[in-house]
Amino acid sequence: MDSPQIVNRLEQKGVKPTANRILVYRLLQDAGQPVNLTEMEERLGTLDKSSIFRVIQLFAKKDVVHSFIDGRGIVNYELCHHTDTCHHGNDHIHFYCETCHQSFCIENIHVPMVTMPSGYSMRDVSFVVKGECPNCAQRHSS
Ligand SMILES: [Zn+2]
Ligand SMILES: [Zn+2]
Ligand SMILES: [Zn+2]
Repeated sequence: MDSPQIVNRLEQKGVKPTANRILVYRLLQDAGQPVNLTEMEERLGTLDKSSIFRVIQLFAKKDVVHSFIDGRGIVNYELCHHTDTCHHGNDHIHFYCETCHQSFCIENIHVPMVTMPSGYSMRDVSFVVKGECPNCAQRHSS
């Protein structure tokens, strides 16, 4: 996706496409897997953490990104690929590798349906499986 498409996507979500916002969007897109704030700061040498945080907070509010807590308790962000209404409760699960500390999207497994007792209103569900990713597992065996 090049800049005009990113601009379109942001406008679709009701976000004014500023230069910083396009930069952050492109980073998430190029990453191809969930990233946390520190990783974003490392990759975007030109933007400081508070600027990135402001962009990402707006993205989360406008459903440009989804967030979830990884196996260390750190918030990870990834792009929302929904075009219409977003059903976060029906989203995919994530895998956290305890060896390389990366998070992966397991797109073909959905978060199991949970029904809460009355009185509890559910806003979001996240489902993280911890363990070792294929890359790290391979490193041990060879
Ligand atoms: Zn979404
Ligand atoms: Zn790993
Ligand atoms: Zn994901």
